[in-house]
Amino acid sequence: MFDFCELYPQLEAIGLERSIEPLKTLVADKFNPANHGDIKRWTEALSNLPKLQIQFINLDRDSVQIGSNSNIALADKAQLTDALQEFRPWRKGPFELFGIDIDTEWRSDWKWNRLKDQISPLEGRTVLDVGCGNGYHVLRMAGAGAKLVVGIDPTLLFNMQFQALQRYIQNDRCWLLPITLEEFPEPSAVFDTVFSMGVLYHRRSPIDHLAQLKKLITPGGELVLETLVIDGSVNDILI
Ligand code: SAH
Repeated sequence: MFDFCELYPQLEAIGLERSIEPLKTLVADKFNPANHGDIKRWTEALSNLPKLQIQFINLDRDSVQIGSNSNIALADKAQLTDALQEFRPWRKGPFELFGIDIDTEWRSDWKWNRLKDQISPLEGRTVLDVGCGNGYHVLRMAGAGAKLVVGIDPTLLFNMQFQALQRYIQNDRCWLLPITLEEFPEPSAVFDTVFSMGVLYHRRSPIDHLAQLKKLITPGGELVLETLVIDGSVNDILI
């Protein structure tokens, strides 16, 4: 059901070969229905997503667009709407699928538009997005030309939302793994850009979070850290 076969050779190619076997074990464990009461329902909803011809996909757009209203029969649209409802709440977005607006709780495009021109261009880069939610920004990073984008987020619902979107997008440059940063097995410095947005202030030990991020960034690579700030001196720290 959750097929990461095309990710593993890409991880090997960037130098994460030692992470692959432990990742396989972790992913199987996280998606094991015995470990989470909603996995069965979500898996059913995934299989209820109608099979549709995709005319176009636009990842480089405020509301990430998959297909259009004119490509879908009314009955399929009703089935798609019902299946998507099973993945509520949709926090990060917005998305538009075959004319259905997923009016998400957050406008993640606002954050993206504030930062996209302030960072090194993502064209051709290998990217990690730590705490990526349902992968809205992962998709935008791929839309900006990244060679490979790996998102990690432990919240299973968000992983399921990403799986639902990928049923249609089918982009093998974008991935979401259901793990925390601390669980990342055998981390090594392979990612050209690492994002940590809206995560640092959730961590009990922010300093350890920064140290763990550093392990994954190539020498000369870039960390995009978005967090709460206080107007204080170098000695003022929020814990
Ligand atoms: N990066 C997105 C989402 C921020 S919300 C954005 O900027 O909009 C914070 C996310 O971090 C949540 O989805 C949560 O599941 C995830 N998270 C919390 N602790 C984490 C950890 N230790 N490692 C990775 N992700 C974590």
